[in-house]
Amino acid sequence: MITSTAISSTGSTAPPVAVHRVLTGQKALVTGANSGIGKGVAIALGQAGADVVVNYVEDDDTANAVVDEIRKSDVKAYAHKADVSSEDQVAAMLARMTQEFGTIDILVNNAGLQRDSAFHEMTLDKWNKVLGVNLTGQFLCAREAVREFLRRGVVASVSSAAGKIICMSSVHQEIPWAGHANYAASKGGIKQLMESMAQELAPKRIRVNGIAPGAIRTPINTVAWDTKEAYDRLMTLVPYGRIGEPADIARAVVWLASDHSDYVVGTTLFVDGGMTLYPGFATGG
Ligand code: NAD
Repeated sequence: MITSTAISSTGSTAPPVAVHRVLTGQKALVTGANSGIGKGVAIALGQAGADVVVNYVEDDDTANAVVDEIRKSDVKAYAHKADVSSEDQVAAMLARMTQEFGTIDILVNNAGLQRDSAFHEMTLDKWNKVLGVNLTGQFLCAREAVREFLRRGVVASVSSAAGKIICMSSVHQEIPWAGHANYAASKGGIKQLMESMAQELAPKRIRVNGIAPGAIRTPINTVAWDTKEAYDRLMTLVPYGRIGEPADIARAVVWLASDHSDYVVGTTLFVDGGMTLYPGFATGG
């Protein structure tokens, strides 16, 4: 068992990650894995025994550092630069993975970004960029992975399923978000993409599920937590009273990727400290 503890600069402590090697022999691809949640997920999958491809789109050094960290778990890992919104680059990424690792068992569709704007000022570029990476990127990566899952089928010694896809969504697949219409639309789209894939592919023993993180401490939302004032304001939205850490999401991904969740199909797991419980109504509204 490998344990690690994430301690925040604002005093919040995530419980230790306890990861058994439940994914030994499996091959995983994590998109957007050189930062934030994707980085935490990629390292945790390695700790759980999977070989891992670290997808990234910029900054070779951080991607290589994640690979080094994963290899400490005595599994294989390499970094692959590709823009998930490019059909050709995604196809080449999966082709290399089947060549180097033999196949793919787990896809974590994690890459995502924000391009915030007041609605009336939102440019088509900002709209297309967010939908292209957050939604089309998940479609392209999932389609390539599913083709390989269908070709290979179930290998019972590896997993009960022919493949697992975990779509990183957000609480904003449910909660509207003023000033972020493109992002919220992309996450709402991920919910329906995930559920439609799950319904269509379950008979082929392919499990597709989603994770909806709440506020997780990563570079995407630094302004929401990097000062005491911002952190305290954020906590009014989080009944559990602490910010989430990438390790909180990584634990959920390892579970959804493993046979421990073999009967879980088409579900979104909210990992949000209660953010979707309408905390504004806690005192009667
Ligand atoms: P992050 O900015 O730290 O990481 C995002 C990653 O995606 C980066 O590695 C980035 O380079 C990569 N990426 C961006 N465009 C890409 C492209 N075209 N191709 C490949 N990779 C690309 O942010 P994060 O918080 O770790 O976000 C990870 C996922 O979690 C995103 O989908 C985000 O929407 C989701 N999420 C985050 C939070 C949060 O509070 N941090 C909450 C809900 C959902």
